[in-house]
This record gives sequence, C-alpha cells and structure tokens, in this order.
Amino acid sequence: MHPGMERVLLSKDEIEDRVKELARAISEDYQGKELLLVGILKGAAVFLADLMRHMSIDVRIDFMAVSSYGASSKSTGVVRILKDLEQSIEGRHVLVVEDIVDTGLTLNYLLEILRARDPASVRICALLDKPSRREIEVPVDYKGFAIPDEFVVGYGLDFNEKYRHLPDIYVLKKEVYQG
Ligand code: 5GP
Repeated sequence: MHPGMERVLLSKDEIEDRVKELARAISEDYQGKELLLVGILKGAAVFLADLMRHMSIDVRIDFMAVSSYGASSKSTGVVRILKDLEQSIEGRHVLVVEDIVDTGLTLNYLLEILRARDPASVRICALLDKPSRREIEVPVDYKGFAIPDEFVVGYGLDFNEKYRHLPDIYVLKKEVYQG
C-alpha cells in the first residue's frame, strides 16, 4: 500500500458490484426515456465511465467542471463554473453523476443552475456520501456508499491531483492532508 494511505475503505470489487447495481436501477427507472448523464469533473470521470458501461439503456454524456476545494481538503462554499455543458438540457432527463457528497454545497449550487434551464427532470447519482458532514440537504437519488467522515482518495478522487488512478478507494492518512 502507498505510504500515505491509512487503509483500504472500498475495494475495486466492492465498487464494481455496487456500480453494477446502480446502473441496473437507473436503467430500469429511465426505461423508454432519453437520459443525459452529466459527470462532474474531474472526480466523477472514473465512476461515470464504469457506470455507463453497465447500463442497458441509451445514454448520452456531458461534463461540467466546478471549483470547490482547490488544494485544501475543506469546503469553502465558493463554487465557480470552470466548464459548462456543451448542449441544452431543456426538456431532457438529466442525471448528475458526482463522486462524493460532503457538505452538499457543490451539488446544491449545481442543482439550482441546472433546474433554471428547464430540464424534464434532474436527479443525482453519487458514488459516496458523507452524511455526517452535510450542511445543506440535497436529494441523492442513487447512492453508492455512505462513508464515515474521513478524507478518501482513489477511483477518480484526488488529493492535490494525485491518486485518481488507484482502482480502490483509500482513507488518506490525516498527517498527509492536515500537513
Ligand atoms: P461538497 O460541496 O459536498 O462539500 O463537496 C463535494 C466535493 O468535495 C466532491 O465533489 C469532492 O471533489 C470533494 N470532496 C469531499 N470529500 C472528499 C474526500 O473525502 N476526498 C476527496 N478526494 N474529495 C472530497
């Protein structure tokens, strides 16, 4: 294991099983509808790539990038759009695909922006959820795992842009992110 890691929180096999279940549930719910998956860069890229490959309905994808944490591990509540969608979502079914919901500030803001564009529906799919950290209630319609309040990396999640490529999800040692 990498020296910066405390322990494995979720193995790649556990993640794969859960992602398949989520893909099945989403495919059933959106049967007969056209679905647009909106991945939130960069953290959700790996999750979205796996999720869509297990879906049995036609989906389209697009991406948004927002700034939230910068180089720190704490949320500032300041969210800025760095990259917007390439297409209109008016009248379309949108599923936001996010890596992790922590305070909820990022998703709350994103939902407001997306709802203002008059989609047919907007729902949220998040791989990870830290319920104990929530500051604003956001409806997470499809949730992979509820996890404790620890800083995690791997499977798309980074610390200072590192560790996104790791196939498992790890708890990062406190001394690494608290300096
Ligand atoms: P929120 O606005 O819900 O507080 O923050 C959501 C974003 O914070 C996530 O999309 C993710 O980028 C980042 N984040 C929150 N908790 C963690 C964590 O444990 N590890 C990593 N790598 N990023 C996190």
